[in-house]
Amino acid sequence: MGFGQIWRDIICGLLSSSTTQVLLNGVPGECISHRRGLRQGDPLSPMLFILVMDVLGHLIAQAASEGLLQPLSARNLQHRISLYADDVVFFLRPDVSDISVTMDILQIFGEASGLNTNLQKSSVLPIRCGDLDLTITQNLLPCALAEFPCKYLGLPLSLKKLNKSQVQHFVDRIADQLPGWKAELMTRAGRKIQVQFVLTGMLIYIVMATDLPAWAIKAIDKIRRGFLWRGRKEARGGHCLVAWVKVCRPTGLGGLGISDLKTLGWALRMRWLWLQKTEPNRPWAHLPIHVPDQVKAFFAVAVISEVGDGEHTLFWADRWLHGQSISELAPRLFAVISKRRIKQHTVKEALNNRAWITDIQGAITVGVMVDVLQLWDILSDFVLQPEREDKHIWRFSSNGQYSAKAAYEGFFLGATLFAPWERIWKTWAPPKCRFFMWLVAHNKCWTSDRLARRGLPCPDGCPLCDQEQETINHLLVQCVFAREFWFILLRQVGLQALSPQPTENSFLDWWERASNATSSLVRQGVNSLIILGAWILWNHRNRCVFDGAAPSVAGALVVAGEERRLWTTAGARGLSLLSAHLPGD
Ligand SMILES: [Zn+2]
Repeated sequence: MGFGQIWRDIICGLLSSSTTQVLLNGVPGECISHRRGLRQGDPLSPMLFILVMDVLGHLIAQAASEGLLQPLSARNLQHRISLYADDVVFFLRPDVSDISVTMDILQIFGEASGLNTNLQKSSVLPIRCGDLDLTITQNLLPCALAEFPCKYLGLPLSLKKLNKSQVQHFVDRIADQLPGWKAELMTRAGRKIQVQFVLTGMLIYIVMATDLPAWAIKAIDKIRRGFLWRGRKEARGGHCLVAWVKVCRPTGLGGLGISDLKTLGWALRMRWLWLQKTEPNRPWAHLPIHVPDQVKAFFAVAVISEVGDGEHTLFWADRWLHGQSISELAPRLFAVISKRRIKQHTVKEALNNRAWITDIQGAITVGVMVDVLQLWDILSDFVLQPEREDKHIWRFSSNGQYSAKAAYEGFFLGATLFAPWERIWKTWAPPKCRFFMWLVAHNKCWTSDRLARRGLPCPDGCPLCDQEQETINHLLVQCVFAREFWFILLRQVGLQALSPQPTENSFLDWWERASNATSSLVRQGVNSLIILGAWILWNHRNRCVFDGAAPSVAGALVVAGEERRLWTTAGARGLSLLSAHLPGD
């Protein structure tokens, strides 16, 4: 097959000298020498397999270029064979000569490589075939006749939109992934990670390929939401403390950073548009790519082109004139250009003898005329650089390249920033405490004001001072108990000047001021300490409400000291930098 002697010797040497040992109770057994060549699971075998299968691809390409196989369609379809491991798909015309040529190639390939095709295990899937075509095919190919949708590489392939039961399969798989008994033992912060990296991660492959229908996204979101808040498949409204749309925002915008499935699918599928633009030699690059209009629109905004030879930039559609497109510069002219021309005409073709003028169709109004003249002016000093290829730049990333992350974040451009996000998510604190702070920031903790509003049983007043109505701001900064607690806690590190004043109304405002008032050297530590203090106050309050404990500043401070020691041991560097020693040291 064209491999040189040296290469063959190396491979033969590897094969004839390799051995296997079986570990039995940790003790390697006798050596078993391999005399039967490669086997499944050999580290060498996948690589060799790819090399061998590549030959099949080349044989088919050769047959096509020599005219032994007819073109698949009037369009320049290059993709005749798709190989993935031992999954092979051939695209064939239902024609006697094409089928027999392919069978011959498979025969030759099988004899040379030992990889024989098992026709019994193969199937024929007709795409727009007449009865006559089918008869020819069945006479020549003794394979089972199957129908779309079929499964290839784990994805359903279909000529039509997938029906409900085919999509339901993906929803069910997500539900199957929920860890049963363990969920109750996980904190919400732990379940958040499970939701993002397991439940959402599993979907990446499918949403990269297809548009999940709205009902499926809703069903999957129900599972993700139920698991986040309750550790179960389903949760009622009352269990879900923060609205799901908010949860699905990036952390910088006030969410938990769990991916929004619709946007995630858009961002991932934009990759095909990007590859189509930047790597036009991919075999599928000229096929139509179905993405929603929003994705096309966003892509048009996100990519600008630097024209070199003008061969891979579209004259009418791309943004190639100082980051602007002709549809923006000359909208009235753009409106009278045919859709086909917009999709096809490259800058090089259009500029050649001003061929773009011939793209204009229909009546030329004064507006169109003005646009033509303006464009004429703009283009008059534009020169192609034939020695340089066109370059496409993704505007929303620093390196000018598309990434799914940059595309995903792009969909949130212009949204209002959530002020405390860095203090919550970038500060060292156990994840469950940061999750709690996130709930505080959205005022979603079950303090008595919120319970009362919903008509739920609640403590009459603040369980710590018994003087005022309990709100999250009261509990964390306004309450006399809280202020005494903060004063002593901060005094332990010599920062008592930061403690909340009696006039303080909002915990978040106080936190921001206290954090900004410290030098950058200790800011991390102060932020950790404030999260720690708020967490201790909240737990102290819960012990008073649910276990009937008596409020005690001294008691809360003892717990805080213990917790501080644990956090420092666990790696809270900022905390250990705070100068003063721990009480009891
Ligand atoms: Zn109080």
